[in-house]
Amino acid sequence: MNDDTRLHLGCPHCGATNRVPAARIDDAPDCGRCGQPLLAGQPVALTDADFDAVLQATGRPVLVDFWAEWCGPCRAMAPAFEQAGRQLGERALLVKVDTDANPQLAQRFQIRSIPTLVKLVNGREIGRSSGALPAGAIVRLIDG
Ligand SMILES: [Zn+2]
Repeated sequence: MNDDTRLHLGCPHCGATNRVPAARIDDAPDCGRCGQPLLAGQPVALTDADFDAVLQATGRPVLVDFWAEWCGPCRAMAPAFEQAGRQLGERALLVKVDTDANPQLAQRFQIRSIPTLVKLVNGREIGRSSGALPAGAIVRLIDG
């Protein structure tokens, strides 16, 4: 695994793209342009290229939303996933993986239907749930 892996994170405040080392995922990085937090409880979009580096770097439980653009229930659940991220704050890292753009991850996790939520602790899957969920149920996947 490559410790130099960098994430391309869009700033939710000013829109600037920031290149952040994956190893700093738990350090609450600030935007290089506007100085505001890049990851204020927002889900992080990861790819085949940077998923493992983030998984290795984070000390938090990870909840991955496997989704795709054409999937209506996935798009419908997106606001609930973001809301759950805000509620969970630092207690979890919420990740989104576009299964069309990242076939290696979709295959590795044997994603057969979307949306599927996969919970990982210390890099190992400890649970999953298929089908759209409301925010409260998503939070309980981490807390429950
Ligand atoms: Zn910014």
